[in-house]
Amino acid sequence: MSSYDVVVVGGGPIGAAAARTAAEEGATVLLVERRSRIEGPSPCTGLVSGHALTALGASERSVLRRIRAVAVHGPNAHAILRAASDKAVVVDRADLERELLERAAAAGVEVRLGTSAVGAKRGEVRVRGQGGVNTVEVGVVVGADGPESETARWFGLATPAEILRAVQVEVVVEGPEDTVEVFVGRGVAPGFFAWSVPAEPGRRRVGVAVSDPLDPSEVLGRLVAQRLPEARVISSIAAPIPIPPVAPIVGDGVLLVGDAAAQVKPWSGGGLYVGGVCARLAGRAAAAAARDGDVSQGRLARYEEACRRAVGGELRFGGAARSILRSMSDAALDAALVALRDEELAGFIAREADIDHPSRILSRVVSNPRLWPRLVSLWTAVRTADTGRLPSETRDPV
Ligand SMILES: Cc1cc2nc3c(=O)[nH]c(=O)nc-3n(C[C@H](O)[C@H](O)[C@H](O)COP(=O)(O)OP(=O)(O)OC[C@H]3O[C@@H](n4cnc5c(N)ncnc54)[C@H](O)[C@@H]3O)c2cc1C
Repeated sequence: MSSYDVVVVGGGPIGAAAARTAAEEGATVLLVERRSRIEGPSPCTGLVSGHALTALGASERSVLRRIRAVAVHGPNAHAILRAASDKAVVVDRADLERELLERAAAAGVEVRLGTSAVGAKRGEVRVRGQGGVNTVEVGVVVGADGPESETARWFGLATPAEILRAVQVEVVVEGPEDTVEVFVGRGVAPGFFAWSVPAEPGRRRVGVAVSDPLDPSEVLGRLVAQRLPEARVISSIAAPIPIPPVAPIVGDGVLLVGDAAAQVKPWSGGGLYVGGVCARLAGRAAAAAARDGDVSQGRLARYEEACRRAVGGELRFGGAARSILRSMSDAALDAALVALRDEELAGFIAREADIDHPSRILSRVVSNPRLWPRLVSLWTAVRTADTGRLPSETRDPV
């Protein structure tokens, strides 16, 4: 029976980054990925910050676009936040994954594509590849097998608090090349939001995520028909987005990372930055536990605690922000967007915003006394709209 310090189940971006870190820490690592080829279309928009690429240990090789602006469309109003410099990039997701797997292999990870984990318990994983089913001896199993993690099920670990259902189409359409468009409102994307993001030249990725019992395909079909009637759909994918919190993410001889651990921003569904940060922690923790011969849940709990310290605050903030946005009526969303047309407030937010640390913008806005009157106006406009007295100036053609 072959034996490894660490077996990573899942060769998505987070599994590849975790495996590479574990190998760099001196562990013997096997990564199994059930896809035999890494190619698109991918269940991902590929919108990330430069920090996310750094956290994942990736270069800029997969970057397709640089983003400077976001246009937010409410039911009847809209606002544009434009920064003077790049705020995010759009990547070719399959290219990003190929790079991360190459880097993992270069660090010494044994990468087996076309190979599925079909069962696991403490100390062993059963894998099915070209040669049939084999049992592999292991110190720590790293479950990086995505939002519907079987590793979590095999070890009896917790599952996400909520699963959103997302659908994304790639369309041929003209649109602003450095601008992400976001659509909010109960008629467009109830409980979450829809997006249109520039990808390859002349193409955009248009998607929506919704909670059960809504059908995301129907919701997206309506959006495309209304907002992008000239768009030609060339591909379509559907995938779940897990929403934290989920605990525990460690057990005896196992830890979860990435979407398997619902390490996702609750306000956007983005998992590449949060997962990338936790992948490094996971790789280090798994390698150290295997090296020390202590793979108990108590020892691996240090990893769970390290994740909480690294990303827990932003995940809690993101959860609270999502709850507030979900509770806002369409009129309140429109009123907020009208208030955001104030040049000084919009300029400040566009300049200071950090998509990986949204809580920082709040503290920066609040600590700037020049913006206080504008914050009061925004708050009053939202409250007034929520009590049903929609000011007439909040209506404009989108
Ligand atoms: C429509 C959509 C758009 C998104 N857009 C963005 C975005 O713009 N920016 C962002 O940051 N995040 C985005 N996300 C979230 C992001 O895609 C995920 O957070 C990210 O893919 C998580 O990576 P992962 O490696 O944890 O999981 P996954 O990418 O799901 O990878 C898991 C891997 O495990 C493999 N696997 C599963 N089970 C087994 C098994 N038993 N044996 C072997 N292999 C197995 C799968 O084949 C898969 O390759 C989006 C998600 C969706 C659904």
